[in-house]
Amino acid sequence: MQGKNIYYETLHNAYGQYFEIGQVLFEQKTSQWHLSIFENPRFGRVMALNGAIQTTENDEFVYHEMLTHVPLLAHGQAQKVLIIGGGDGGMLRQVVKHKNLTNITMVEIDAAVVDMCKTYFPQHSQGAFDDPRVNLVIADGLEFVKNCTEKFDVIISDCTDPVGPGEVLFSSEFYQNCKRCLTEEGIFVAQNGVAFMQPEELQNTVRRMNQYVKECTFYMAAVPTYIGGSMAFAWATDNVQARQLDLATLTARFEQADIETRYYTPAVHQASFALPAFVEQALQSAMSITE
Ligand code: SAM
Repeated sequence: MQGKNIYYETLHNAYGQYFEIGQVLFEQKTSQWHLSIFENPRFGRVMALNGAIQTTENDEFVYHEMLTHVPLLAHGQAQKVLIIGGGDGGMLRQVVKHKNLTNITMVEIDAAVVDMCKTYFPQHSQGAFDDPRVNLVIADGLEFVKNCTEKFDVIISDCTDPVGPGEVLFSSEFYQNCKRCLTEEGIFVAQNGVAFMQPEELQNTVRRMNQYVKECTFYMAAVPTYIGGSMAFAWATDNVQARQLDLATLTARFEQADIETRYYTPAVHQASFALPAFVEQALQSAMSITE
């Protein structure tokens, strides 16, 4: 790396990844974050907030496809979706592909992230912010759900790690209010960290969420730049049939939706809920501790 400009991710102690910086495109202290956007020869454009990689051009499809198509195809009749966070627009791009949706609300705390990502990550949103069904709200996600009187069929929490403004989106209060804002068959999903590196994240989620829903579990996918193994996605719903759908039903819905994907397939959808033993053990031990 002699003479190269290097970005070191500082999310984890004593372990991390680095990115050769081809060019720094943007660097700023926004109202909420230290925001960096730079070019990397392998991952394309990379965004980091406070030293933690948020998204890259070349691997964002894994995360955004799995956090949208899994709940939406499992639900099958969703009309209204709420996205908390998601400032880069990648989640929104995948959600707007679902033509049957009538209303998509996105609540992002930092307008600067949206503005910067529209400029530097146009491939993430690909115009999704202009979809007439989209209502972008600049606010704290917890405050929004606390005061919300609407109901949503799918709620997607696409937030940062539980630090700084992101911390409240992993609280019992947030989960309780999200459950209140779900329709009867509604499904809540959330990014819940890389299970091997951050087991306490999914343990906290199951301990806090379990009291509000009939079913709280996780599904997983490996996102290359969320280092240390597969990422866990929280799944919480009273609609316990949604996770039991057979492959034929999922395949029929996927074909009906007519959505092009690079990671999601109905078989991957089903398989993603099969949890490694260490994750199951972490969840069992979480349930034996009360907060
Ligand atoms: N894929 C990333 C990950 O898994 O860490 C998340 C990407 S997205 C950029 C995260 C977004 O959550 C950021 O735009 C950040 O501003 C937003 N965010 C963090 N805390 C928030 C809060 N309390 N309310 C609303 N948005 C929040």
